[in-house]
Amino acid sequence: MRFLWPLLIVCALWGHQVQESVWPANQTFFDYLEKHEIAFSLYYGLNDELKSSVRTIFADTPFHELYHEESGELLQALIPISEDVQISLMRVEEGFEVSLEPIRYQVVEESLTFEIERSLLVDLQRLTGNSRVATELTTIYDDRIDFRRDFRQGDQVSVIYERKVRNGKTWGGVHIKGAFIETNKRRHYAFFRDLDQGYYDEEGKALAGMFIKYPLRFNRISSHFRPSGRTHPVYGYRRPHLGTDFAAPTGTPVRSTADGVVRFRGCQTSCDRGYGRLVIIEHRNGWETRYAHLSRYANIRQGSRVRQGQVIGYVGTSGVSTGPHLHYEVRRAGRPINPLSVRSVREDGLSGEELQEFTVIAGRIRADLDYVAATAQPGVVRLAGLELPSRHEAP
Ligand SMILES: [Zn+2]
Repeated sequence: MRFLWPLLIVCALWGHQVQESVWPANQTFFDYLEKHEIAFSLYYGLNDELKSSVRTIFADTPFHELYHEESGELLQALIPISEDVQISLMRVEEGFEVSLEPIRYQVVEESLTFEIERSLLVDLQRLTGNSRVATELTTIYDDRIDFRRDFRQGDQVSVIYERKVRNGKTWGGVHIKGAFIETNKRRHYAFFRDLDQGYYDEEGKALAGMFIKYPLRFNRISSHFRPSGRTHPVYGYRRPHLGTDFAAPTGTPVRSTADGVVRFRGCQTSCDRGYGRLVIIEHRNGWETRYAHLSRYANIRQGSRVRQGQVIGYVGTSGVSTGPHLHYEVRRAGRPINPLSVRSVREDGLSGEELQEFTVIAGRIRADLDYVAATAQPGVVRLAGLELPSRHEAP
């Protein structure tokens, strides 16, 4: 693995120009190649993963370019495609080379405590300078608290969270480890359990997750999640099945299971292969859902915001498929998760050993929350900060 950041910085010291800009909304990777007089053959030589990566650059993503000081030629571009991974387009002897590289950032832990003055959202915006913590909190407490009505002046909020810092600025979303929100003299606690399972209260009851049960009305589940492999109905050999297949008539509406942004809408290699017509939606906290083999799309495009329950497309049998069905995937930080397990955990409480383990972790965070709330001045307090490489290693 090469670390390109230091290279960029060293080059900058030698007099090359580093430029930070924002990826324009309508710019494709092809436009970018054309702008720098790079042959399109570069794209056609990429593997499928890289091809799909360069087609999923978000509008308004900040990215970096390194230019040769004298000739003004592009030497390297680093374009993030998620909080953890960036595309590197680098000049080599024979033209350019494309690769995926990890993004490096710091993780800092902070606590935040305050009494409501105006509203949760307004107060948090004022204290943190952005809406990230507010967005996460409202997501976590969605089914417990009505954020427009439940608060009175003087109600207390206490949060412990991590945020990523890159080049001195907050990078991506925040991760809340624990919180309480006090309304009507009652503290509503939320403790993070783990990536797949989200938040639980002090009694080990799950707070509602962000996904609805199923993305469509279906006849039956025709194939389950089997990460270790199944005999593929078309290919005949064993391959992992990274999602759940729902058999349903062609044209059945398919709905986004959570709020998010359309990261991809199209066919990856061709509409007769693989996923066929595919929609990938990126959700908060590194969640992603995929909807494959569609017959057509609803009125969405790459970069569109979609609400939970919004129709994004219609069941079909495009790509490699034996009949009309939806192939539905859920991924967290790139890792496929059984879509049916994501649904069930939000409804169940913990018991037995799980509850015991959880109680220990939650107890520690709760003590911190209560301590901060009892002793700290209102505002943000830095608890810890450590240099960590990106959680995602580049493949
Ligand atoms: Zn499938």
